[in-house]
Amino acid sequence: MEDIHCQGCGAPTQTKNQDEIGYTPESALSKEVILCQRCFKLKHYNEIQDVSVTDDDFLKMVSEIRDVDGLAVHLIDIFDVNGSMIKSLARIIGDKPIILVGNKVDLLPKSTNKQKLINWLKKSAKEAGIKVQDVHLISSIRGHGIEKLTEAIEVMRKNRNVYVVGTTNVGKSTFINRLIQQTTGDKNVITTSYFPGTTLGFIEIPLDDSSVLIDTPGIVNKEQMAHYVSKSDLKVITPAKEIKPRVFQLNSQQTLFFGGLGRIDFIKGDKQSFVCYFSNQLDIHRTKFENADKLYDDHVGEFLSPPDESTRTTLPKLVQSTFKIREEKMDIVFPGLGWVMIPEANTTVIVHSPRTVAVSIRKALI
Ligand code: GDP
Repeated sequence: MEDIHCQGCGAPTQTKNQDEIGYTPESALSKEVILCQRCFKLKHYNEIQDVSVTDDDFLKMVSEIRDVDGLAVHLIDIFDVNGSMIKSLARIIGDKPIILVGNKVDLLPKSTNKQKLINWLKKSAKEAGIKVQDVHLISSIRGHGIEKLTEAIEVMRKNRNVYVVGTTNVGKSTFINRLIQQTTGDKNVITTSYFPGTTLGFIEIPLDDSSVLIDTPGIVNKEQMAHYVSKSDLKVITPAKEIKPRVFQLNSQQTLFFGGLGRIDFIKGDKQSFVCYFSNQLDIHRTKFENADKLYDDHVGEFLSPPDESTRTTLPKLVQSTFKIREEKMDIVFPGLGWVMIPEANTTVIVHSPRTVAVSIRKALI
């Protein structure tokens, strides 16, 4: 018998084991839109079930596309470029041409310099060993840039299949959903959620008589902040709308905490205004550097929150890196959280972020 796939997540359905992927009650198989139990619950009750797929399985599933010809569309989250860039992409997809797509552009303040962002994405891809043909910025939710991107895909695919690849939580389901709406008018075909790991299996959208666009499973990346935080913390750190910059005038020897998930110590430099770009719901707390360690030890999980209790069991310890900034207007980027613009050259900061979620520096976007 031909496998029946869940139209939500793309996983092959099975009726035997409730805890495994694709479980679908017998009765649901005769419905017009077939959803596995997991997608059904997610769609109707907004409830998320645990995923039991290992990173290796994810990689194996995605690796199936290595030797077939086609165009790859690598979707990344512009708020978590380091965590969403797939460093092993070439190994996984072979030598297909790649379009790099930065999603969630609607969250950036209007004054963001898009060209600088594109340049930074190009540079980041190059550093990750990924050769990209083209870079696009889009919002899967609002629709910005989708038309231009679909035109570019049409030109570059040269009648071949298109493979959409990304890590979990970058907005891949939302993106594919939008494409489906455009082509079929259907809504909510794919599972979308805050919780990484919810897109499993492949789903195909016909492009023309002979080729399809294929949604591949989300790859789990250990460097992604989203993997270390609870569902409710993820809601706090994920910006829901355009982020409003928050400005702190600081003297040296002062510290800013971003909840309890990140921290920046202003060690040396002239008095200046640090501009913070984070989810509007994430509290930023200022304190004296000399008190910062104790404050963290005493109050992490309380007013320095997130992390909540559940996140604290999974979050790697915060580790420090020192940045001696020599140029004006640089951004210190906390992957998956946001960034801080430091206006003055000759400034030294110590940055604390969870081990495995490495902080980086770039020319200011704004
Ligand atoms: P997937 O795991 O890659 O399939 O990601 P989802 O499509 O489930 O999206 C993950 C989260 O990002 C959800 O909360 C989405 O609402 C959100 N999201 C996806 N695309 C966008 C976008 O373009 N803008 C914004 N603001 N949020 C987005």
